[in-house]
Parts: sequence; C-alpha cells; structure tokens
Amino acid sequence: MNTVTLIGAGPGDPDLLTLQAVKALRRATVALVDDLVHPGVLRYLRRSARIIPVGKRGGCASTPQAFIHKLMVSEAQRGETVVRLKGGDPFVFGRGGEECDALREAGLRVNVVSGLTAGIAGPAALGIPVTDRRHAPGVALVTGHAKEGGHGPDWAALARSGLTLVVYMGVSRADGVVQALLDGGLHPDTAAAVVSAAHTPQQRAVRCTLGRLCQVIDEEGLASPAVLVIGGVAALGEAMAALPVALSA
Ligand code: SAH
Repeated sequence: MNTVTLIGAGPGDPDLLTLQAVKALRRATVALVDDLVHPGVLRYLRRSARIIPVGKRGGCASTPQAFIHKLMVSEAQRGETVVRLKGGDPFVFGRGGEECDALREAGLRVNVVSGLTAGIAGPAALGIPVTDRRHAPGVALVTGHAKEGGHGPDWAALARSGLTLVVYMGVSRADGVVQALLDGGLHPDTAAAVVSAAHTPQQRAVRCTLGRLCQVIDEEGLASPAVLVIGGVAALGEAMAALPVALSA
C-alpha cells in the first residue's frame, strides 16, 4: 500500500522543521505545497522531485480541497512517494484531517509529521508563553474565520473562560472578534498582541490592549498571515523580540 506523508512545515524559518520532516522530504518524488510554506523548506527535496503548488494561488480556486485530494491519490497510486507540505502543523486549521480521510478512503496509508504551529511559535517569537500559569490555565486556539454557513467560536464563552485566546485567520476580521469579546465581558484593558509573518524576515508584531487592537492593526498595516493573542500573557516577553528576524537557514 502506498503511503502519503502530511508534513507540517512550521511557521517560516526552515530551521524549525523537524528531523522527521527533513527525512520525509528527502525521500519524496512529488511534493504538493501550500502557499504558507516557506520556500526555503523545499531545498530539502531531491532536485528531481516534482513540486506542485496547491495553495489558493495555485490556480484551483473553485474546488481546491477536492482537487488536492484527487491529485494526492492519483500521484500516490502511480507509485510516486508523495508528501503534502502544509504551513505550521497539519492538524491545526490545516484541513489535515479531511485530507487523511480522503487518502484512507482511497486505500492509501497516511503518515503525519507534526510541525510547529503559528499560534504557539508565533507568540513565542515575541517571548509570549501562551500558557503561563500566572495568567491563564490554558490556551484556546480558535479561528476568526468561520466555515462558510457554519458557526464561529462562542466568543462569549471564550471571554468568560480565562484562557489565553490565540486567534488564527483573525486579522482581517479583528473588528468582529474584538467586539464579540468585549460584548462577552472581557475588559478593554486586557493585554493583546498581534504577530504577522512570524519566523520570517517579514515578521512584525505589536502589543496593545484589546480595546485598541483594531486601531493598532490598521495603523501598523498588519496583514495576514497573523495571529492575535488575547490575555495577560500577551504583555509578557521582550519588546525587542518584535523586531524582524533573519532566517538562520
Ligand atoms: N496549520 C497552520 C495554520 C493554517 S491556517 C499552523 O499550524 O500554523 C492559516 C493561519 O495561520 C493564518 O491566517 C495565520 O493566522 C496563521 N499563520 C500561519 N503562518 C503564520 C506566521 N508565519 N505568522 C503568523 N501567523 C501565521
């Protein structure tokens, strides 16, 4: 039975790849690659490997997920050693679960290589420890972008939870997220931070309060990919860590 490997490529800097990821990349003959994967990661592929970009910019806007499933299955069934490279961790907002199901339904074996997720490694780039027990009993990783026709997170319940909130895909919808959290009872002075393009040379970050978050995002022109961090931990860490980073690889 052929195996397809889902690989988490981490948030940016190729030095954040796991050794398992590098070993799987070296074996691959075909790589399906998402937009958010840092190009430097591809250097671990053999020169003969075929690289297929399948992100939103890859030209499959109508039914991207079904198209990706078909492509992975057909390449694996032809005997290729297929890797599917995803930004961050494949199982954190990466549709990795859906892809595993589709592959298994087609009779293929799936191997999953975890990666550093942006919602933990991004704040960490600023020195923010998302579960610092002096501030929060845990962290909720949530999406700011509800599935079409579906329900988003229960912001009022999250506002009451006392958890650190890390919002993925939330920067363009920050107005709605912030308003829902304030309506849910979070104080406007609650600490907040935004980090965009974490662990890349374009990394930018701000820290402020929940009440000022949207204004600061606008003023600083912070855009996707970015995570919002809301809760006391967002004030921790070093201010200097917000400076752009040079890739170590
Ligand atoms: N599987 C990925 C998340 C995919 S959803 C992971 O585990 O990280 C895409 C969202 O991830 C973006 O909208 C953004 O919220 C976040 N993201 C991905 N890479 C990022 C980066 N380098 N810096 C900040 N946020 C990032």
